[in-house]
Amino acid sequence: MKHDKAVVVFSGGQDSTTCLFWALKNFKEVEAVTFDYGQRHALEIECAKQIAQELNVRHHILNMSLLNQLAPNALTRDDIEIKEGEEGELPSTFVPGRNLVFLSFAGILASQIGAKHIVTGVCETDFSGYPDCRDAFVKSLNVTLNLSMDTSFVIHTPLMWIDKAETWALADQLGAFDFVRQKTLTCYNGIIADGCGECPACKLRLQGMEAYVHSLK
Ligand code: ZN
Repeated sequence: MKHDKAVVVFSGGQDSTTCLFWALKNFKEVEAVTFDYGQRHALEIECAKQIAQELNVRHHILNMSLLNQLAPNALTRDDIEIKEGEEGELPSTFVPGRNLVFLSFAGILASQIGAKHIVTGVCETDFSGYPDCRDAFVKSLNVTLNLSMDTSFVIHTPLMWIDKAETWALADQLGAFDFVRQKTLTCYNGIIADGCGECPACKLRLQGMEAYVHSLK
């Protein structure tokens, strides 16, 4: 196991691309893993591929269509509307256990390629309320993965306690503000960069960017 090698869970969006830059700064060797679970927009995978290629990062794409078979949801099906959760409800984009599954597979990959570190862009601050994106869950899974493989992975969550404005600030500190703004895909309607401006993901991303840019003035 190499102490300076990391696997980044990578979707091609703002958060995970910022994490990829963060990992490239902090680890000598970095590989990325993208999960293909039948996203509404195949463009998401293409976008991730392109970014990995441009940053010269070895990219693993794992077929997770099983997840869609088990839990069809608004991120994979055109006939399910994307809605923010109302009063304690989870949003329609929620897939039960998705992050549990993704991080577990990232762990298996890490063990195969001999990487000690796993980096994920999950965040408690962005109000999505997904339980398997919370800090306590990630710490618990870290222990479970280590027990399951008798290893000593370290899961890193550079975005866990920061908001979208601070995520833009981090990208800027890493010299990646323009790259992240122009090349990543966060929009639920599949529009790259600044997106459609209307969907919940675009609103969150745009508000964060405006707050960050405003804070510089
Ligand atoms: Zn959008």
